[in-house]
Amino acid sequence: MDFNEFILRNEMVIRLGFFFGVFAVMAIWEASAPRRALTVSRTVRWVNNLGLVFFNSIVLRLIFPAAAVGMAAFASEQGWGIFNYYNVSPVIAVVVSVVAMDFMIYLQHVMVHAVPALWRLHRVHHADLDFDVTTGARFHTLEIILSMLIKLATITVLGPPVVAVFIFEIVLNATAMFNHSNVRLPLELDRVLRWIVVTPDMHRVHHSVEDDEANSNFGFNLPWWDRLFGTYRDQPRAGHENMEIGIHTYRDPKLVACMHGMLWLPFIGKVNSYAINRRQWSDDEQ
Ligand SMILES: [Zn+2]
Ligand SMILES: [Zn+2]
Repeated sequence: MDFNEFILRNEMVIRLGFFFGVFAVMAIWEASAPRRALTVSRTVRWVNNLGLVFFNSIVLRLIFPAAAVGMAAFASEQGWGIFNYYNVSPVIAVVVSVVAMDFMIYLQHVMVHAVPALWRLHRVHHADLDFDVTTGARFHTLEIILSMLIKLATITVLGPPVVAVFIFEIVLNATAMFNHSNVRLPLELDRVLRWIVVTPDMHRVHHSVEDDEANSNFGFNLPWWDRLFGTYRDQPRAGHENMEIGIHTYRDPKLVACMHGMLWLPFIGKVNSYAINRRQWSDDEQ
């Protein structure tokens, strides 16, 4: 069995192993050195956030059984995509593919904030009243499907090596849990680390109720895109302990901390003509 075949056969098990491993480390870290006091019962949030993650995983596997790595293998067989067309060193192909896929995630994130109908889906991620390791995986099912479609399209054009997609999926999943976690990092370490990876203090700014703060720090993995495209914001105005997390309009835990409420959230409120990037205004209008 070659390496690609090994990845294709064991992808699910290896990814689950990383998920539970990183989750356990971050959960212990959060308990021993929390950055902020939580406002909603952790049990309620965790049961519902993780319930949504579990539900999304099943739906995704049913719709896309081969997943992203399967698409990369198929593109390779068909000779689709840049790296399957040109003869490039495997190391360069892996590195460039991982960076390019991360850039697509950044662009996608900017898009789901800018396009009103997509913001309706993405606001499920933002409506979490606290910010911890479970927030990192809390997305509406339709946004998860949209993400996969964009990923599959990216793979078709890019033709990344199977191992690059495998690495990217694991790293993105791990960094999303890390940079959403409610952990206290030494400020000096955070300052250095956020040149390499998006840190919890960096991404927490993005979960502010303040419109301008929520429209900054879109990166999930590599922090460079925000610095490069002018969407980087160093710290929240109110400070990390005092800043308010979530969305102004939707603050009822019965809605935003319950799984059925999260699934229903995109469909609440009338459809207006929105102003691009006036996220708060458009929610307040409803
Ligand atoms: Zn966002
Ligand atoms: Zn987030």
